[in-house]
Amino acid sequence: MLVIVHALVGGLLGEKIHSIPLIIISSLVLHFLMDIIPHYDANFDKKRFLTTGEAILNKRAKIFFITDHIIALIIIAALYQMFDSKRLLIGAFVALVPDIVGLGYKTKLRGNRYYMKFLKFHSKIQRHTTFKKSMISQGIIIFFLVCIYLIIYRQQLGI
Ligand SMILES: [Zn+2]
Repeated sequence: MLVIVHALVGGLLGEKIHSIPLIIISSLVLHFLMDIIPHYDANFDKKRFLTTGEAILNKRAKIFFITDHIIALIIIAALYQMFDSKRLLIGAFVALVPDIVGLGYKTKLRGNRYYMKFLKFHSKIQRHTTFKKSMISQGIIIFFLVCIYLIIYRQQLGI
């Protein structure tokens, strides 16, 4: 799932929930639930990773990963500007954590049994579909999320 979607969902939870521990828990749970929605992941060969623990990122996957994260960060910064809410910031960032943790694969963490167990769990729950279908379904999800943000923003402004 695009981290753009995760950031939008997490930010919304942060904006709407008042307790920080609850924001953290719900952002993480929603992250995993969103990953179940069939999507396209350029990340790596899932089958190979689940059987051998070997994750190989190709150039296309790296570009996809970096672009997705940069856009997500811009969106988070823009939402923070609009809503001036630290809770929104916390929700959005926590929602990214399960994916960012994946970068640890490049470090010594790779030798940690629990870390690898988490990565395999995270990989196993992903449901996949084609790039085209994925962009359409995620586009629709993003559209609805943006609509919800705009409604909340207008309510706050009292329009
Ligand atoms: Zn994920």
